[in-house]
Amino acid sequence: MSTAGEVINESRKVVVKIGSQTLSDEHGAVNKAAMHNIVEQLHDLRKQGKQIIIVSSGAGICGVGAINKWHRKEDINYKQALCAIGQVELMMAYKELFGEYGIHVGQMLLSREDFGDHMRNLHIRNTLFTLVDEGVVPVINENDSVSVEEIKIGDNDTLSALTANLWGADLLIILSDIDGIYDKNPKEYRDAELIEEVHDIDGLMLEIDSSGKSRFGTGGVVTKISAAERVTKYGIPLILANGTKPDILRKIVDGSEKATIFYGK
Ligand code: ADP
Repeated sequence: MSTAGEVINESRKVVVKIGSQTLSDEHGAVNKAAMHNIVEQLHDLRKQGKQIIIVSSGAGICGVGAINKWHRKEDINYKQALCAIGQVELMMAYKELFGEYGIHVGQMLLSREDFGDHMRNLHIRNTLFTLVDEGVVPVINENDSVSVEEIKIGDNDTLSALTANLWGADLLIILSDIDGIYDKNPKEYRDAELIEEVHDIDGLMLEIDSSGKSRFGTGGVVTKISAAERVTKYGIPLILANGTKPDILRKIVDGSEKATIFYGK
């Protein structure tokens, strides 16, 4: 069985989900340095001949950063308005960072209905293939401003899994603020132990305590595990890694950092 590093090396089509925890600092502001470092690593992967699609959270945080108000509003209209503002900021940051390497980015805002409809599915797929074939990096996010609760995909872990399946990716990497799945929440328990390899997701769910999620994230660890369920069914492995650690992907490849890998069935 290949290690997480070997799986990264062997994969050609890679979907990378970047969580809000990875893109923000401890005050909830956009962490430009972290974003820069991730883009640099993704550029490295591309230089090795890999194709990359990004699924990025962080519109809400970027919205707060841009206008510096409304962050305490619970009203859905304000939340969606913040995402509308922040999405522009987020894309500007990606455009600037990839622009340093002469790479274009393309934005795709998707909702659950898009994945449920055959024609829309086809169009998403064709657009993704065209962008990637032409060397553009697609950056996908949920279309928060139109998605009301009932029709929301709800979290970008699920969105990244749907994308990986639709594109026929070789690997899904989810970057969060933890090294991987632990037997219990590492933010609450210092003795939590990292689980490096998962072959049996049902068994894992019985073994671990997955309660508690952080302030800015929406999914917590449960949505990451269900994303793993979705992709491994189609033979696509998922790596959950700590995107807040500089050079994390390079370090997983050289073996100096750990992560959790869910193997494809
Ligand atoms: P993101 O915004 O990156 O998607 P989330 O905050 O939604 O991240 O989810 C990650 C969080 O889930 C971790 O920071 C951690 O506090 C929490 N968590 C709860 N249980 C576990 C567990 N068993 N293993 C790892 N993380 C856990």
